[in-house]
Amino acid sequence: MVNNVVAPPTPVNEPILGYLPGSEERKKLKAELAKQECEVLEIPCIINGEEIFTGDIVEQVMPHNHGHVIARVHMAGEEEVNAAINSALEAHKMWSCMPWEARCAIFLKASELLAGPRRAEINASTMLNQSKTCHQAEIDSACELIDFWRFNSDYCRQIYEDLQPPVSPSSMWNSSEVRPLEGFVFSVTPFNFSSIAANLPSSAAIMGNTGVWKPSRNSYVSNYRLMKLMMDAGLPAGVINFIPGKASMVGDICISHPELAGIHFTGSTRVFRNMWKDIANNLENLRSYPRIVGETGGKDFIVAHPDCDRQALLVAMLRGGFEYQGQKCSAASRVYVPESVWEAIKDDYCAEVAKITMGDPRDFANFISAVIDKKSFDNITGYIDRAKEDPGCEIVTGGGYDDSVGYFIEPTTIVCEDSRYESMEEEIFGPVLSVHVYPDTDFERILEVCDKTSEYALTGSIFATDRRHIETALKALRYSSGNFYINDKPTGAVVGQQPFGGARGSGTNDKAGSPLNLLRWVSPRSIKETFAPPHDWTYGFHSE
Ligand code: NAD
Repeated sequence: MVNNVVAPPTPVNEPILGYLPGSEERKKLKAELAKQECEVLEIPCIINGEEIFTGDIVEQVMPHNHGHVIARVHMAGEEEVNAAINSALEAHKMWSCMPWEARCAIFLKASELLAGPRRAEINASTMLNQSKTCHQAEIDSACELIDFWRFNSDYCRQIYEDLQPPVSPSSMWNSSEVRPLEGFVFSVTPFNFSSIAANLPSSAAIMGNTGVWKPSRNSYVSNYRLMKLMMDAGLPAGVINFIPGKASMVGDICISHPELAGIHFTGSTRVFRNMWKDIANNLENLRSYPRIVGETGGKDFIVAHPDCDRQALLVAMLRGGFEYQGQKCSAASRVYVPESVWEAIKDDYCAEVAKITMGDPRDFANFISAVIDKKSFDNITGYIDRAKEDPGCEIVTGGGYDDSVGYFIEPTTIVCEDSRYESMEEEIFGPVLSVHVYPDTDFERILEVCDKTSEYALTGSIFATDRRHIETALKALRYSSGNFYINDKPTGAVVGQQPFGGARGSGTNDKAGSPLNLLRWVSPRSIKETFAPPHDWTYGFHSE
């Protein structure tokens, strides 16, 4: 009745390969890029393990070269979405009874495939599909996903172990059956991390759930290849059903289905709030109260104290703000710098940002590439144009953009007089860093400003030397972020080291890459077995 607990291999973080000139990994990746760039992949829906080519085609292009088609995607219609749900519900009967060790073994095998023979394939597809440099692809689609699968397998074991009740008096046996949720889990994933895309459906699956995975319209190629990789690792048909399709149509059908057991979402705050409202409006039709897990937007900050390490601050602003074109939920996007510090670093900072190379990620000399699509390009350049017109703003780096070949935007820094200017407050999700310069004596006031500005609470950092200032910031900013960094950039959380997630408008803070997330996908049954049941219904107190 109670599952055996045998530990899977102790997880360790996957080392990040360097792709230095002449290295083996660089040769392999270049060869794979050359191969994939010549292909136009036909991407089907995958339902109950079968590839369904619907003929309703959407083309996928490279953001850095939007005239270049890399895939033709067969979009799901209502029929396919319903078939995917039915397939998940049918597979639930088999998968929910499979021993957890067997489920974990599949994802441990997937992690080995990704770490070895499939690494170049998945990294190349992430580079071409989402315009990541080799380094950004390596830390995302290889290392982070390998870590998710390895660590989640170990967390799964811990949950089976920890959920057992501590006491069974001699006449009885208490146990806890760690059941998956009843129904299907709907996973809705963002474009910006291939690792997150594969982790959302697979973390629920590790705990015995089956579901429907709706990938982002901007990452079909890498996500499809990851789906195939999981199948090659032994994932049985129907456990995860891959459904590229129009978001609102897929969402409406899944959310109004009576067997919806959970939503595993990562994406923007607006979309998540609307999904939550739709779920609430459907509650009467649902068999269970669904688990709602959502990691959403951010307006991530750096606060510098006058006594900070200035060079470390400069590097954190540059890397934190502009790597992957600022398209990380954790990217630094507002910085509060004391006057004396800004005075000292401004020229160096601008000179260093001017050295950032931008272009096609297939040219490894480029440090950043294009933003994801036209909609995003227009949104980001709108902020830049308004700042150019605003007398309270000064653009000190970048400001230029060009979408004739790819969606390229220069790394842009806006110095804002008003600490609540729109670019200090709203998520832009692009290579735009806003800086507010404050009087050196106003550190405590600026911490309060930081806490009150923006609806988000995802990540943030403090740069200071004297420990008292660090402690002051830790206290003042206690609820301003779910991940807090001391003398480090606010990006780059590592699975198994800094569980990731934010609160307020940034999500339900269920900490991806930790047991807390996996706990949301189980619904334990407490079982008491009595060996000596009473045979007399009376108690002593009512006898004469
Ligand atoms: P998005 O919100 O535009 O899309 C996310 C997913 O939701 C996509 O699959 C999209 O198709 C789907 N979607 C959109 N409308 C829907 C609907 N009506 N019903 C069902 N699904 C729907 O986000 P994006 O542009 O892909 O990613 C960027 C956003 O994600 C940013 O806001 C970023 O901060 C956030 N993000 C957060 C984290 C985190 O861990 N907090 C991580 C990565 C990205």
